[in-house]
Amino acid sequence: MKKHNFSAGPSILPQEVFEKASQAILDFDNTGLSLIEISHRSKEFVAVYNKAVALVKEILEVPSTHEVLFLQGGASTQFLMSAINLIKKDNGKAAYINTGSWSTKAAKEAKNFGEVIEVASSADTNHNYIPKGYEIPTDVDLVHFTSNNTIFGTQFQAYPETEAPLVADMSSDIFSKPVDVSKFGIIYAGAQKNLGPAGATLVIVKKDILGNTGRAIPSMLDYQVQIKGESMFNTPPVFAIYVSMLNLEYMKAQGGLKVIAKANEEKAAMLYQEIDNNPSFVNHVAKEDRSLMNVVFLLNDTSRDAEFLDACTAAGISNVKGHRSVGGFRASIYNAMPKESVQALINIMKKF
Ligand SMILES: *Cc1c(COP(=O)(O)O)cnc(C)c1O
Repeated sequence: MKKHNFSAGPSILPQEVFEKASQAILDFDNTGLSLIEISHRSKEFVAVYNKAVALVKEILEVPSTHEVLFLQGGASTQFLMSAINLIKKDNGKAAYINTGSWSTKAAKEAKNFGEVIEVASSADTNHNYIPKGYEIPTDVDLVHFTSNNTIFGTQFQAYPETEAPLVADMSSDIFSKPVDVSKFGIIYAGAQKNLGPAGATLVIVKKDILGNTGRAIPSMLDYQVQIKGESMFNTPPVFAIYVSMLNLEYMKAQGGLKVIAKANEEKAAMLYQEIDNNPSFVNHVAKEDRSLMNVVFLLNDTSRDAEFLDACTAAGISNVKGHRSVGGFRASIYNAMPKESVQALINIMKKF
């Protein structure tokens, strides 16, 4: 029986996507060949790539000022790639908002290329809120933030305002709701949360912010090289791109991001309502900053943690153990998570 999968990543995708993907591994579009044994430059795969890019542009309403890429190396490579492409060689500066482990890692990579200014941080309370009311210097080459904090269960509801290129790690909330892409210099996301399997990284980059650093950029890390090569400077992650394309088709058929956002709001509301009303559980995140994707919660009586996990396992609920830096539990309820699975978790919580 299929489990209720609350994994934070790699994570749940629609069952229909898994079925189509397994078929393409055996025989891709009646070609008599597997998707993963054909050339990435074949007309069949180039059509897949072009469709994936076109669907990203359509679903996110990407303006013509921006390019869409499918790269490798995960969000973790984008930590340094965004920095090396934007921070000026001489006296370069970058502003970072520290909302947890991922933004800390991003800032660490940027330090290789210039001065990093931490303009705001939620470290004082173990990242259970999104900083507000901070000043961003005007003379920086980029402003970086993590839109959804997968580990700490917080999410930006409004984005930082700046004239500098705004760079966002949207790994865990891309495609969960509409976004005004025109406001961003770079949006990047590892595919494995809400888009597809691990192995592809979606990058949306504004063309006119590139080529201004005065530094030499290694080819694989140069967005301009990747744009020119249409993500095929080297062999792209063909399977991950294909499955992402299938999931993008699925999102479009669902009615797009407004419809998806509404479903996500409903699922998160169900779960937070149970946490708030059930005296056995607590969530320490500032209410207005709660993530709609990763719901973290604790048992008031932590001596019952193992008992709760056992009850979940018995009900076919998997991957609700919290990240080691927060403890307790985390239910990741990405787009593909059915309402029934959220209800199954709530039913177990009610018994506590
Ligand atoms: C999962 C995650 C990452 C790490 O992505 P990789 O693809 O493993 O490098 C980075 N940032 C956020 C917000 C994430 O959720």
